[in-house]
Amino acid sequence: MCGIFAYTGPDATAGAIVLEGLKSLEYRGYDSWGVAIRTADGTISVIKHTGKIGSAKLPHIVSHTALGHTRWATHGGVTQANAHPHLSSDGKIVLVHNGIVENYQTLKRELQELGYAFRSETDSEVIAHLIAETRKSVSDPVACVRTAFERLIGMNGVVCYFADDDTFVAVKNGSPLVFARAGKARLLASDPAALAPHSREVLFLEDGDCIAISPDGDTYYGADGMKKQMVFQLLDFDPEDAQLNGFPHFMLKEIHEQPELIRRITEAQEEAVKKAAVMIRESYGTYLVGCGTASYAALAGTYLFSKIAGRHVNFSIASEFAYLTQFIRERSLVVPLSQSGETIDVIDGVRDAKMRKARIMTITNVQGSSLFRMADYALLLGAGPEKAVCSTKAFTAKVALLLLIAHELAGNRERGQETLKQAAAAVADVLDRKDELRALAERMHHRDHLFVLGRGVSYPVALESALKIKEVSYIHAEGFAAGELKHGVIALIEQGTPVLIYNPDDETYHDTLSAAHEVKARGAYVIGVSSRNSDVYDAYFHIDDCADATIIPNVVVAQFLGYYLAVLKGFDPDKPRNLAKSVTVK
Ligand code: GLU
Repeated sequence: MCGIFAYTGPDATAGAIVLEGLKSLEYRGYDSWGVAIRTADGTISVIKHTGKIGSAKLPHIVSHTALGHTRWATHGGVTQANAHPHLSSDGKIVLVHNGIVENYQTLKRELQELGYAFRSETDSEVIAHLIAETRKSVSDPVACVRTAFERLIGMNGVVCYFADDDTFVAVKNGSPLVFARAGKARLLASDPAALAPHSREVLFLEDGDCIAISPDGDTYYGADGMKKQMVFQLLDFDPEDAQLNGFPHFMLKEIHEQPELIRRITEAQEEAVKKAAVMIRESYGTYLVGCGTASYAALAGTYLFSKIAGRHVNFSIASEFAYLTQFIRERSLVVPLSQSGETIDVIDGVRDAKMRKARIMTITNVQGSSLFRMADYALLLGAGPEKAVCSTKAFTAKVALLLLIAHELAGNRERGQETLKQAAAAVADVLDRKDELRALAERMHHRDHLFVLGRGVSYPVALESALKIKEVSYIHAEGFAAGELKHGVIALIEQGTPVLIYNPDDETYHDTLSAAHEVKARGAYVIGVSSRNSDVYDAYFHIDDCADATIIPNVVVAQFLGYYLAVLKGFDPDKPRNLAKSVTVK
């Protein structure tokens, strides 16, 4: 979470460059934003605001050096004082921070006793004063930042600028930081996508690494403090893909990208799928782990592997995985799923599994991300940048890949490819009929509660659908296994309560239809999503049957419902309240 962007170079509009960089990183946090600009006389001017950046502009200040931050608050409320960047007391050191300083209270007390006055409630300001205090005995900026950084407990990334030395020092442990050169300019950001308009060649800092950018040049240090060679990676990324291209919102644009993406995955991922199947086959126990939407893709994976390949794979929510790793052995295979590849809860579990010598096979959308680099083998979703905070195309891409791998394991690759092609066509059909979903959303947008039911492989899709709807429309939506209904859930049904029911033409069909009757008998407004209509449905949305891949067009129904419900209620579907993409804090 939080977006960091820093620039130093020949361009005299450093503040505006940083602001543009922050706009492209805003999906990482939009509680507040701020920019610190080095002015011509060498002082630092800080501009901070609460709320989204929107179309904000900065006063024109001639400057070649600036750094900025978009915040997702962890410690301290959403106030201007708590917005980053944070200054040292003498105003000569300024920093932006991503992460949580777990021991910030101890450090704060220590610094207060030394006479430091705090202007904010954040853990981040502690780092600014700690660096200033450390500087009294360690004058070299790099050594100073490293010494202070070593005192921080937690996963943190810091970019610090020393005005007197005209020097940036960046260091990280857990939180992502990426460096790029563009001619004589030097840039740092939390996400390579923000650097792509400046340079396609980027350096991903490893944990413990430190980079210094000074008038004498840039120097890279490893965790051992020794100078290290910079190895740049070429980004496979088209900045055009990160534009709205005529759509009013990224969420809508990304929903529309899915048919083409599924077709691409079907055709282009054959080698990756083969390799993944071999790794699973050779493992003693496979564990799929993810958070939020990725966790539902992982859960769907357990059903797909069982049903298609007769293979048991384990599943865990990533934030719980660390408590289950006692089972992990040398030949275990851990498969982290993460759109950003930077989800800290996933990284944490993977780190633990690596210590136990497990093999790691990452499924991510971001080349070069932490989970990409931690993997023995990484599969890329190839979904292009996903800018809306709520995940749509990355979910379907993950499910598509898992389905292909399951078929590969079962020795019927062509069948997997065939059903995915049908799924791509079925998604295209949902796109063509999205007005029907808008009309349904109009019926439901005033409701406080909504339920989604599915059985078997449609159960994780029910969970994902409910998440999609609640995270953007703020309607309380819950997904349930349809068979669980009688065990408590049915108490929630009232006259007119909307219940979305996934009822594909598979082994779950008749039991799910019974669940539809049971909620209908208690007054529910039943929306059937199926290839077969029934009298029990108050509203029916047809989905072509594509065997196990039917879950893909099914979830697109909920993506549209969530989108339209949010728009009808006047919310920004791209930036839901309290959320941020790329969850890099615990
Ligand atoms: N802990 C810091 C704060 O609350 C940084 C949070 C973040 O990474 O966005 O300001």
